[in-house]
Amino acid sequence: MPNLRELYQEVILDHGKKPRNFRKIEDANRHARGHNPLCGDKLSLYAKVEDGIVKDISFLGSGCAISTASASMMTQILKGKTEAEAEALFNRFHHLLTEGEKEGEVVEGPELGKLDVFTGVREFPVRVKCATLPWHTMHAALLNEEQPVSTE
Ligand code: ZN
Repeated sequence: MPNLRELYQEVILDHGKKPRNFRKIEDANRHARGHNPLCGDKLSLYAKVEDGIVKDISFLGSGCAISTASASMMTQILKGKTEAEAEALFNRFHHLLTEGEKEGEVVEGPELGKLDVFTGVREFPVRVKCATLPWHTMHAALLNEEQPVSTE
């Protein structure tokens, strides 16, 4: 039996070390900045949205392995999704990390898929903000909010 916790850690470490979509989108039409003062995570989120679809999404910044991995995996999963799907995933992910999903609980919304690896983060409340920062920033970017997002 593979140890799930170790597998999860491996995925997070891999994305933390080699973040995907770690670049700027020059012709982005959505942008927001996020900051988690508690940990020092900072990121800039870029997205190109056309006809309500996230055609491209990327980020730059510096942060801990959890926030970097979360941003990396988020950009992977959101590319090609509609804005509504992106919002639904944000709500689902936020719920998973803050409230938790009980065994067998049926939650409305899209499948989280690989994002399940962040389930373990819930046990570390300080880290929850690291994992949700990229999502809050994405949410602000879709709304084109000028104010930087802060988890505090
Ligand atoms: Zn962090």
